[in-house]
Amino acid sequence: MKNIDPKCKQCRRVGEKLMLKGERCNSPKCGIAKRPFAPGFHGPKARPNAKKSDYAMQLNEKQKARKQYLLTEHQFRIIFDKAAKKVGNTEKLLIQLLEMRLDNTVYRMGFAPSRPEARQLVNHGHFNVNGKKVTIPSCVVKQGDVITIKDSSKRSKKFTNLASRIKSAEIPGWLNMNIEQLTGKVLHEPAAKDLKSNLDPHVIVEFYSR
Ligand code: SF4
Repeated sequence: MKNIDPKCKQCRRVGEKLMLKGERCNSPKCGIAKRPFAPGFHGPKARPNAKKSDYAMQLNEKQKARKQYLLTEHQFRIIFDKAAKKVGNTEKLLIQLLEMRLDNTVYRMGFAPSRPEARQLVNHGHFNVNGKKVTIPSCVVKQGDVITIKDSSKRSKKFTNLASRIKSAEIPGWLNMNIEQLTGKVLHEPAAKDLKSNLDPHVIVEFYSR
């Protein structure tokens, strides 16, 4: 089922910043900075250092990943199963499959300030992959793919000051940006060190291995 909880509430629920609102997430207006406790009646009264069970910690880690990448339970499970079926390290493969979704790649390239916005831009057909329009956020990019903004979209307000935004973005090592041409290239599959988040894939694998 689609998550319709307000974005800041989702962060407060898992107890960490999921960076779902772009610049606001790094400002004093951030919901979790203003109210650093779980939402709901009992939220402010919860003991912050109360010990959590292993299951509660694993569940929280899985929820964090799922909400961060804007996935439903079903979608996340499908991605996990795909990673588990492949030959290799499931933790690494899970992260690769999540990171290499087109919406996440667009976000990582700095074309959008947040994943929700990146997904909307992809849905609205603003990007080409290897010269062809792609509107499916779950499409998985591969090594060598080149992502460009459609010519007719370059004048859109969504892309004003894009060059300076890309310059200030922390582009992970598996991607390369050409700021003059506003294009991005996938250099290779992301490794664990490329994961710029506080997710622990090992705990997520433990959750599904129970
Ligand atoms: Fe989360 Fe961003 Fe809201 Fe802060 S502003 S609580 S990081 S969505």
